Amino acid sequence: MKTFSLSVLLVGVLLTSGAAYAAGTTHWTYSGEEGPESWARLTPEFGACAGRNQSPINLAGFIEADLKPIKISYRAGGNEILNNGHTVQVNYVAGSNISVDGIQFDLKQFHFHAPSENHINGKSYAMEAHLVHADKDGNLAVVALMFKEGDENKELTKIWPLIPKNAGEKTALPSPFSVAQLLPSSRHYYRFNGSLTTPPCTEGVRWLVMKKPVSASKKQVEAFSHLMRHPNNRPVQPVNARPVLQ
Ligand SMILES: [Zn+2]
Repeated sequence: MKTFSLSVLLVGVLLTSGAAYAAGTTHWTYSGEEGPESWARLTPEFGACAGRNQSPINLAGFIEADLKPIKISYRAGGNEILNNGHTVQVNYVAGSNISVDGIQFDLKQFHFHAPSENHINGKSYAMEAHLVHADKDGNLAVVALMFKEGDENKELTKIWPLIPKNAGEKTALPSPFSVAQLLPSSRHYYRFNGSLTTPPCTEGVRWLVMKKPVSASKKQVEAFSHLMRHPNNRPVQPVNARPVLQ
């Protein structure tokens, strides 16, 4: 009954106020009049969406660089899963981090896009996970992980049945989830400078894209897409003058 009331309330908010999403920010979508081509014009706060260092991109034309291994220190800290209408997100408690450029970035949450947002050498993947980190000054670093269609992903199996069906709902995870288990054993990565892929499209984000994809079954990918009711990938953006390192 509680869930039902919340859904009714959310639908009410969405219907009565076109400008406001449930979270109270400007409404945007992945297609139509409030779609990616229009994001920068929807509100001044989304102005960065028209910037020159936007994500996602097609990663290609790699520059050989001496990329240091990412120091990854993750605990089993995923404690809740939410459906915000744009994506499915697992929030993380404090205590997990990566170290890049000698700076510590704390893992805040990870979420999914289907199909993938970034492309690698012109190839789109079935799904992509973004592990979002912030340093003490609020600078962001995102570890991106590609999923190719194949074997069932045992880690996703633990959380997929728990995804709330309705936008705006969240569920506590019965046991802490470890995102480290999702990562491939090889941690080689590409690196470029980009942005958030959703409004406000903030730039200055360190992007670290795992070279090696992991697998998810067709059923798992479809379950996610079905729940989202639409593709939730922003189209690839111009690379402009940015080098993509490997
Ligand atoms: Zn994302």
